[in-house]
Amino acid sequence: MFCPECGNTDLPIIEGVCRDCFLKKFSILKIPKKIEATICSHCNSKFEEGKWEDSHIPEEEVIYRALERAIAIDPLVENEEIELEILQMRGTIAECYIEATGTVFGKTIKEEFETDVRLQKTVCPSCSKINSGYYEAVIQLRADTRELTTNEIAKSDTLVKKTLNKLSKKDKLAYLVQIAKLKEGNDYYIGSYKSGKKVVEALKEEFGGIIKESPRLISQDKSTGKGLYRIWISLRLPEFEKGDFIKIKSSNKNNSNLNKIAQIIAIDGKRILAIDLDTFKNISISWKDYETLELMKKYNLKEKTTITSKSPNKIQILDPDDYTPVDLDINENMKDLNIGDEVEVIKIENSLYILPKIV
Ligand SMILES: [Zn+2]
Ligand SMILES: [Zn+2]
Repeated sequence: MFCPECGNTDLPIIEGVCRDCFLKKFSILKIPKKIEATICSHCNSKFEEGKWEDSHIPEEEVIYRALERAIAIDPLVENEEIELEILQMRGTIAECYIEATGTVFGKTIKEEFETDVRLQKTVCPSCSKINSGYYEAVIQLRADTRELTTNEIAKSDTLVKKTLNKLSKKDKLAYLVQIAKLKEGNDYYIGSYKSGKKVVEALKEEFGGIIKESPRLISQDKSTGKGLYRIWISLRLPEFEKGDFIKIKSSNKNNSNLNKIAQIIAIDGKRILAIDLDTFKNISISWKDYETLELMKKYNLKEKTTITSKSPNKIQILDPDDYTPVDLDINENMKDLNIGDEVEVIKIENSLYILPKIV
């Protein structure tokens, strides 16, 4: 066999000509002369295959990815190596250089290409939502039968911002539109419902309280018929705080705590921890039983008095109001107290309670 184009008789024949004549017309890859990449001018996320993806990726990366996607390597090529380079930027146009090497029918060839990648700058749907002040959730921070304290407000503002900052790496709509400071509490307007929910969970973890959601229909999508909802999520902080005195009016688990007087020692997202003032034993109360607790006295109403006598079963103190002696049942934790010791007490419903030492 000889090549009809060059007369060579030694090389293998491919598609009717010798390999070298075949390779003269062969190209390792195909690439369009002009390539377009759509990016958001605010967050640099790019539009690919009908979807917006990957925010905060550098422009160069967008250009390289657009090149990679546009290159079609011929299936006959083996061991291909493609090098991409941005030669220069002309405004939003990147002049690019591509060097390709590969083996075709045992012969290694090298080719060079040039192409332009044009960056189409626009605003992605997320950024346009942010710009328009769009929000899906409103967190209403309130306190039960009282106003929020300055400390709670300051802590909560910081926590909301910190949590959103963390979430914004994964959710572009994890942003705060505004904080409305109302007499009854704070309203936080949050871009996405998903992040709003995480923020309210973080607040509950810090303060405890009761979460309630109420969705409101904002509008109807005409094409899909689906309703667009905005969700109000309220977090109601407890009436009492650490150190306060409560009465347990009933408990779902068992009624052994009924009418017990207790002091709050800790509050978190999971439960309220109190100490029984008769036995000094801990009582854990879940938030669903919150309504069964009654605030009896604030922590700052506790008083000081002295132990005047002690027997194996009784301990005597002076009523701080009129100095009459009062005998109380002793419990395990009072064994270390001695006559003459000063103790803290609280008077609730005319009964005096010696207080445990809590931090
Ligand atoms: Zn030939
Ligand atoms: Zn964007």
